Amino acid sequence: MSIKINQVVKKFGNFTALDRVDFEIKSGELVALLGPSGSGKTTLLRVIAGLELPTDGNVSFEGEDAAKDSSNAHVGFVFQHYALFRHMSVFDNIAFGLTVRPRAVRPSKKNIHEKVNELLKLVRLEGMAKRFPSQLSGGQRQRVALARALAIEPKMLLLDEPFGSLDARVRKELRQWLRELHDKLHMTSVFVTHDQEEALEVADRVVVMNQGKIEQIGTPDEVYHHPANPFVYHFLGNVNLFHCRFEDGKVYLADTPVALGENLKPTAKNATIYIRPHLFDVERTPGPQSFKATVKYVNAAGPVAKMEVVTPSGDTIYIELSQEKYRRFHFKKDEEVFVTPKEMKLFDSDYSI
Ligand code: ATP
Repeated sequence: MSIKINQVVKKFGNFTALDRVDFEIKSGELVALLGPSGSGKTTLLRVIAGLELPTDGNVSFEGEDAAKDSSNAHVGFVFQHYALFRHMSVFDNIAFGLTVRPRAVRPSKKNIHEKVNELLKLVRLEGMAKRFPSQLSGGQRQRVALARALAIEPKMLLLDEPFGSLDARVRKELRQWLRELHDKLHMTSVFVTHDQEEALEVADRVVVMNQGKIEQIGTPDEVYHHPANPFVYHFLGNVNLFHCRFEDGKVYLADTPVALGENLKPTAKNATIYIRPHLFDVERTPGPQSFKATVKYVNAAGPVAKMEVVTPSGDTIYIELSQEKYRRFHFKKDEEVFVTPKEMKLFDSDYSI
């Protein structure tokens, strides 16, 4: 089921929570709404769900105005805090959406039984049908919540920070599993998250939101490697910022002239350059584009070695080196090194003359 969000505005009193949000979700897509706290993600999800009416604009499903069909029959919801019925068993929780259907469209007891067992298998909770929510782990409860949402065979699954309250390992496991489930069931899914890693890992497309507006929509690869503006660049990972000056086609980074790449065309004397921590090379000897710095901190635990170096002008730079590179050099605190940026990003909006 395709979803079109047409120039949606949502106001709470004088406060504009959504400001002319406009985009389309294709049928079968898994889309992440990503942004900081208060950016409007949940409000947008609630507007899509029909739980909140837009102040202006509208939402349509398959070209039909969603406001005309308020039954929510084709929408499955999963919220951050499981929202399971505590006094009901796992079985009854999952069966709920089917048992409350009007008699004429309610499946038979036998069919409900089969459906719930099928779902228990799908969410890998066979043998737990008789348990109550309090007898389950957080991850298991969230899988029950998903099974309950899926019982009505929704065409559209809406998830609000579904794994937000779980620990990092369970989160990772469940998000991979959500991806598999989405593909298997051919739904259109929209999930809210403030976790960039989660959005980049799971979604087909990511909608980056800020202050009720969309900053960028794109595939994980597009938003990460080709951010539209400084906000997206900041939000999608750690970054070093350099306020630099330009002269004769060169940028002076930490007082060292560095040639600019093809895509960087300065139009003013000063600008801000952004460089991700893994986009530096560090050597013990100077290179043509390198600048001097002193190592202040090294932490080699983890998939990459993390370093902090300080330039003679006092700028601190955060660098990530591959373990392979780190093991070859074993950089030590207080030693002098030469740092070369491998790739940098510059935004027009940062220019000031
Ligand atoms: P979070 O990640 O913290 O959940 P979010 O991006 O989902 O944030 P929303 O919950 O959509 O943000 O809220 C967007 C803005 O709208 C916030 O400033 C919030 O305070 C405001 N807001 C949301 N619901 C209401 C409401 N019912 N009445 C008044 N203001 C509201």
